[in-house]
Amino acid sequence: MVKESNYIIAIDGFSSCGKSTVAKALAKELNFAFIDTGAMYRAVTLYFLRNKVDFFDESAVREALTHIKIDFVPNGETTHILLNGEDVSLEIRKMYVSDKVSEVSAIKQVREVMVAQQQELGRRRNVVLDGRDVGTTVFPHADLKIFMTASPEVRAKRRFKELQSKGDISTIEEIRANLAHRDHIDTTREESPLRQAADAIVLDNTNLTPTEQLKFILDRYNKI
Ligand code: C5P
Repeated sequence: MVKESNYIIAIDGFSSCGKSTVAKALAKELNFAFIDTGAMYRAVTLYFLRNKVDFFDESAVREALTHIKIDFVPNGETTHILLNGEDVSLEIRKMYVSDKVSEVSAIKQVREVMVAQQQELGRRRNVVLDGRDVGTTVFPHADLKIFMTASPEVRAKRRFKELQSKGDISTIEEIRANLAHRDHIDTTREESPLRQAADAIVLDNTNLTPTEQLKFILDRYNKI
């Protein structure tokens, strides 16, 4: 069967489950674009923090959102994220941004603007998106939905290793607390909380290598 519209693969799940790693590898394998929706919420958070936007002031939030332009620029193996033309790929991973990102991404207006941008990006080409609400809210009719999970300890260790390799000095306890804090806000917020779509396939990668995870998803993709 020849498909007339483009393909959308949604990979949702908890923080630090390795969603981006597998989504990136999948996009490369299939020659799809890759959109890290978490990076978009992180970029908005960075802008709000730098510009001292009061998260609780609706009109200030609305006004600030009109000044934010986010772009993804592929660069070899990686994709850089630009905030108003500045490469913020490294800055948005720092702990001071992680500490506030779930509060910012729970704001209704922020979600409305980000979801609209993500839908626009997916309208134009085949795309793999990773996030929290891609399969439930952004693309409820995605061709393939994966819900990723892993044990909290494995997630904390993975994030610790990732941050260490970037020179961040956060402790494993700080990371554990940050993950628990974000899980709580992400799953209990009013606006599109993190939950598994009814038609999503669960991928628990606690004991799986990146290659095994990629194979798991490719096998499912090849069936559609
Ligand atoms: O994926 P990552 O951990 O970088 O996402 C950072 C935060 O952005 C999450 O903890 C969550 O609060 C928010 N997020 C979201 N919806 C998405 C992607 C991320 O609310 N689709």
